[in-house]
Amino acid sequence: LGRKLNAALSSLNRAPVVDDKVIDALLKEVCAALLESDVNVKLVAQLRQKVKAKVKAQFDSGADRGKEANRKNVVQKAIFDELVQLVDPGVEPYKPKKGHPNVIMAVGLQGNGKTTTCTKLAVHYQKRGFKSCIVCADTFRAGAFDQTRQSATKAKVAYFGSYTETDPVSIAAQGVAKFKKERFEVIIVDTSGRHKQESELFQEMVQISEAVKPDMTVLVLDASIGQAAEAQSQAFKDSADFGAIIVTKMDGHAKGGGAISAVAATKTPIIFLGVGEHLHDLDKFAPQPFISKLLGLGDMQGLMEHMQDMAAANPEKQKEMAKKLEEGKLSLRDWREQIQHVMSMGPISKIASMIPGLPQELLAGSDEEGSMRMKRMIYITDSMSASELDSDGSCFWVNGKDGKPEDISWRVTRVAKGSGTSVREVEEVLCQYRMMANMAKQAGGKNGWMQTMQKMQ
Ligand code: GDP
Ligand code: MG
Repeated sequence: LGRKLNAALSSLNRAPVVDDKVIDALLKEVCAALLESDVNVKLVAQLRQKVKAKVKAQFDSGADRGKEANRKNVVQKAIFDELVQLVDPGVEPYKPKKGHPNVIMAVGLQGNGKTTTCTKLAVHYQKRGFKSCIVCADTFRAGAFDQTRQSATKAKVAYFGSYTETDPVSIAAQGVAKFKKERFEVIIVDTSGRHKQESELFQEMVQISEAVKPDMTVLVLDASIGQAAEAQSQAFKDSADFGAIIVTKMDGHAKGGGAISAVAATKTPIIFLGVGEHLHDLDKFAPQPFISKLLGLGDMQGLMEHMQDMAAANPEKQKEMAKKLEEGKLSLRDWREQIQHVMSMGPISKIASMIPGLPQELLAGSDEEGSMRMKRMIYITDSMSASELDSDGSCFWVNGKDGKPEDISWRVTRVAKGSGTSVREVEEVLCQYRMMANMAKQAGGKNGWMQTMQKMQ
């Protein structure tokens, strides 16, 4: 999808004049790409109308100031904004409160990831100081309680369930009552999601809901749901009025086009994305980065703002840097300057997450850990010689001072000593630089995302 939209957007950039024909052609391509990623047909048609109307209104009001380049921006921005609108119903989801028994109930069809997500949620809130626990109210599937027991134990989260009790409503009520008495602050109720009859499933959900009175009900939805999303989410909404959506398996091939339709159909916000099978694979949801990812870009808007700030601070420097990036000639010294700049921009997690393809290691841990890591990168580059800094780093991979083979390059050893770090750390930093430089090469050039983004400003 990303590649298609990218291609569509860059064909807009090549068009000499932006007339109705060009806009129609672009919208056609964008809509085809969205349909292919399983965004609901009606929504796509609406989006097309809205973009057209918005663009026309802006042109009529003279927002383009008669310039083709501005007209292109108006079109691109209208598309991006309308897409963001689709996943942003403008509703604030429930926020658990400290010192209060917040009951969260998970609903969704079997296999969509409820049990996994319940544990992830418990871990998420536990990390934020909420005393958290899980109640397993799935009595339909054999082994459901074992699954909860195992994952909750692994996550060091309290749990409740039964091997013998067959009434899910009774278990849910017992568990919630017990944990409330024990002053738990986030009590997550996992449900079955499957029954002999669909009507029984919905009936069971209503009964559990009446018994535990959840502060928030969450619909857990598999990212690969596709065109069935609208009908399914509507059916759940009608019986278990959920106030939030979590889309799981976003780490797979599906980009979550169906999930967009669920949001639009039920006017309910997505709060998290499941991005893997492990306990910590839960990302906070934000509309703009999600759409950027759907479009195959990083957080365009965030990065654009960031680049504008950088450009405003030192326009000449940034022009030079952009040129180097484009030509794929980013030296170690340039890279160091970029890192220093990023460090001066604020929390690393915020900036780094905007840059597509940035090594994940950089993002791991807290902001303090991230900025410490960056500082060490600077120490390491500080210990390099001028000619090393101006190079593309390849000299570091040549072993032996006089051409004799050695395990570790003498340059690496020297830099490690000089910077008070280890050989491994220096090698890691060099690897990261190489990844970044390679990425810059791919990103640069006429059709790379750097260009696309600059044009979208
Ligand atoms: P439930 O039937 O709704 O309770 O679903 P489960 O929690 O048992 O999950 C079904 C399968 O999906 C399991 O194999 C999970 O490991 C997997 N799963 C759940 N969430 C994710 C996710 O975000 N990413 C990936 N890759 N797998 C997931
Ligand atoms: Mg389950």
